Amino acid sequence: MKKILIIEDEESILMALEDNLRLEGYEVACAVDGEQGLLMAKEQKFNLLILDIMLPKIDGLEVCKQLRKDGINTPILMLTAKSQEIDKVLGLELGADDYMTKPFSPRELLARVKALLRRAGQSRQDTDIYSFGDIEVDFARYEARKKGKLFYLTALEFDLLHFLIKHRSQVMSRDSILDEVWGRNVYVQPRTVDKHIADLRKKIEDDLSNPIHIIGVRGVGYKFIE
Ligand code: CA
Repeated sequence: MKKILIIEDEESILMALEDNLRLEGYEVACAVDGEQGLLMAKEQKFNLLILDIMLPKIDGLEVCKQLRKDGINTPILMLTAKSQEIDKVLGLELGADDYMTKPFSPRELLARVKALLRRAGQSRQDTDIYSFGDIEVDFARYEARKKGKLFYLTALEFDLLHFLIKHRSQVMSRDSILDEVWGRNVYVQPRTVDKHIADLRKKIEDDLSNPIHIIGVRGVGYKFIE
């Protein structure tokens, strides 16, 4: 089980994050100020840190800097209150891995968390580029292009597409998609798969009434066709 430390002083956000991550099957620890967070991150082993910037005692920027200085390379997802702060964070090159601006949806947060954990789990940076139709997807960089133009896919959509492409031309059941993309310890309805397939189709199919890449097989699941 992956362990995540949340360092956040706003109780409502902390509790919402904690609930959502637990529901996804992560083990969660919490710290309510920078000092406590820094100590916990140094003393225990976590797979990911979610770190707010505005914190009592030691702010998030400093926590991040200190950890990296001490050689702790745990992936860090920074939470910022304003989008302007992101520029500041990026400018400082603190060594955070990703950033989210408040308010954010739980779904978006979970997708980012998953992407960070996945990237951290990859021992080598393999260039994993796949093209079909007028679309090119770089799974290592999490970039997708249509006719050469970047478009946005969530981490979950990348994972879903990656799974279908890996098993192209085979019909994959909703259960096997859930097991592989969401993970076995995650409790979601098979219908969730349909919802995300629909989102993915909107982005990659030219004609939604006649999809040519992600084909639904009634009562069974989905298959990818180039
Ligand atoms: Ca705060």
